[in-house]
Amino acid sequence: MKPVYFDNNATTRVDPRVVEAMLPFFTEQFGNPSSMHAFGAKVGAAVNRARGELQTLLGAEFDHEIMFTSGGTESDNAAILSALEANPRRREIITTAVEHPAVLSLCAWLEKNKGVRVHVISVDAKGRLDLDAYEAALSDRVAIVSIMWANNETGTIFPVAALAEKAKAVGALFHTDAVQAVGKIPMNIKATAIDMLSLSGHKLHAPKGIGVLFVRRGVRFRAQIKGGHQERGRRAGTENTPAIVALGKAASLAPHYMAEENTRVRGLRDRLEKGLIQRIGHSFVTGEPGNRLPNTANVAFEFIEGEGILLLLNKEGVAASSGSACTSGSLEPSHVLRAMNIPYTAAHGAIRFSLSRDSTDDEVDHVLSVMPGIVDKLRGISPFWSKEGAPQAFDPAYA
Ligand code: PLP
Repeated sequence: MKPVYFDNNATTRVDPRVVEAMLPFFTEQFGNPSSMHAFGAKVGAAVNRARGELQTLLGAEFDHEIMFTSGGTESDNAAILSALEANPRRREIITTAVEHPAVLSLCAWLEKNKGVRVHVISVDAKGRLDLDAYEAALSDRVAIVSIMWANNETGTIFPVAALAEKAKAVGALFHTDAVQAVGKIPMNIKATAIDMLSLSGHKLHAPKGIGVLFVRRGVRFRAQIKGGHQERGRRAGTENTPAIVALGKAASLAPHYMAEENTRVRGLRDRLEKGLIQRIGHSFVTGEPGNRLPNTANVAFEFIEGEGILLLLNKEGVAASSGSACTSGSLEPSHVLRAMNIPYTAAHGAIRFSLSRDSTDDEVDHVLSVMPGIVDKLRGISPFWSKEGAPQAFDPAYA
């Protein structure tokens, strides 16, 4: 059987039509879009076409609200740093405990080195935001709120449109890291109060190293990369034209798959989750059941290590990812699952299966057939597991 790739939240396969669209921009169409001659003009037109394709995908009002960057991390950093610089009297940030490190590490650094106060809003056992704490943190001291649209580990979706309205009421900017949400759920950004939005090409069947920061017209923006006048002076550096064209193509393809993502892919994901829970005791799905990305399943298998599961899955030709990251020899469970108060014994054994439009029924069947044996094998050598009476299962509903 062909290897099963269930790690699409880490990165996606570049769509062959996207590769085809970008190739001429390495060869005949190699001009610099800023050049005042035909070589440049043609490429400049292609970059603008791509800008329009991103505008359409997001439902932005103007194409110049689309600024190309090197990816999600740069977009997140640029949004937050620009907001602080443009509003020097506001020295507070609001974010959540479950953001990607692209936001959380920057916030921690700003707190430590720049005297910025960071409000980190917590989540409950299902990953839902503490809305009371959010409202309490909002004030005219807040420069920017940065809250992700959908979580990369559990797929839980946050009500960003409503959260943005509340930020607007105190004059704070609202940024959303929509890296995992774009292309999976429909967006009409112009109808919201969202000021800035980050997205990344490689989560969208485009290449790595290309992304977008949407900056609503009228939002004061301070360039974080200084140099030439590219991107209307907001992001210097000669444009990565092949990748920009590729991202435009991926954006134009995405709406054709959105319905499938919410029907066929969701169906595969649901079957995978149900099948795993039925076949394997002491396991549960993390995140808010009816409010998750359609492609993401995060399942905790209690009393074993995620790394062990991944190694054995890999032997069976299955690529997934674990909720924990191996840091300096000690296995730290994922900050997202810890923020949800999921006990170490379950958070350690959490596996994220993230599907895509390339995923098939046979692949789900294969994972369902190999997982029970893998879990049995690991529980057989787990010090936390006893055959006579396995420890009480953790039910997140009662946390
Ligand atoms: N934000 C989220 C939610 C992500 O999942 C990722 C990638 O894993 C990023 C930001 C970073 O994006 P990039 O890899 O393009 O820098």
